[in-house]
Amino acid sequence: MIDLEKLKSINKESSVAIISVPSDENSTFLKGTAEGPEKIIEALHIDSSNMCAENRVDLSKEERLVEIGSFEFNDNSNQVLQIEEPINKILENGVKIIALGGDHAISYPLVKAHSNFFKDLTVLHFDAHPDLYHEFEGNKYSHACPFARVMEQNLVKRMVSVGIRGMNQHQKEQGVKFGVETIEMKNWVEVNSLKLDSQVYISLDLDILDPAFAPGISHYEPGGCSSRDVINLIQKINAQVVGADIVELNPQRDINGMTAMVAAKFLKEIAVKILE
Ligand code: MN
Ligand code: MN
Repeated sequence: MIDLEKLKSINKESSVAIISVPSDENSTFLKGTAEGPEKIIEALHIDSSNMCAENRVDLSKEERLVEIGSFEFNDNSNQVLQIEEPINKILENGVKIIALGGDHAISYPLVKAHSNFFKDLTVLHFDAHPDLYHEFEGNKYSHACPFARVMEQNLVKRMVSVGIRGMNQHQKEQGVKFGVETIEMKNWVEVNSLKLDSQVYISLDLDILDPAFAPGISHYEPGGCSSRDVINLIQKINAQVVGADIVELNPQRDINGMTAMVAAKFLKEIAVKILE
C-alpha cells in the first residue's frame, strides 16, 4: 500500500519518493513485470553493493529519498486508469517521483499526472520500441501504446526517444505525425549532441539494453546498448529532471537477478539527478 503518512515527515519540496507500480495487465507476449518492483527494491538494498551513486552521494544517508510502498489495484477498471489520481496527490505536495514498473503502459498515466504540474515537459524515452501504436491487439492502453496516448493529448512540449530498433512503418508514421524526435540505435552516436533544456521526465524501458546486459525482460531485441551507454546519457542530462519511471523488468526471465541490479543502478543514478 502507498504510505502517504511517510510523506508528512519529510521536506517535501526537495524529496523523491520511490513508488512501486506492479502492473502487467497491459503486457503482450508474456506476463511477469508485475513482480519487477519488488526485485528492484531488493537489488537496491542487497549487501553485494552499496547505495552510492557514481557522484559519491551515498543514498543510504539521503533523507530526501523515501520509499513509500506499492500501488494496490482493484478490479473495477483497467489498472492504467487507477494510477493518475494517487500520483497527482503526491505531486501536489511538491514531492518528485520515481515509479518502478510494471509494464510500460504505466507511463501514460504517470506522464499525464506530471503534465498537470509541469507545463514544460520533455519526455526522454529509453526503449528498443517506440511504443506509439494507436492500439495493439485491440487495447489502446497496451504497453505498446503509452506515448500515442501522451502525444495525442499534447501532454508534453517535447518527446525524445532513444535506442529504438524495432520500428515498423505504422510507428514511423505515428512518430512523424506527433513530432517525436527519434534517435535510433543504429545512430546512437547522435545522443552526444542531444540538448535538453526543459523539465525532463525519464521513461526507461530496460529493453533498451542489449539482452546480453538485461536478460530479465520480455521482448528481446538484440543490437541494443550497454548499461554504460545508458548511465552516461543519464549523467550528462543538463536540465532539471522532475520525475522518472523504470519499467519492464520481468524477473521470471532474469538470470541471477542481474537485470534487477542494472535497474537498481539506473535508479541510483536517476535519483541523484533529481536530487541535484
Ligand atoms: Mn516500452
Ligand atoms: Mn521496449
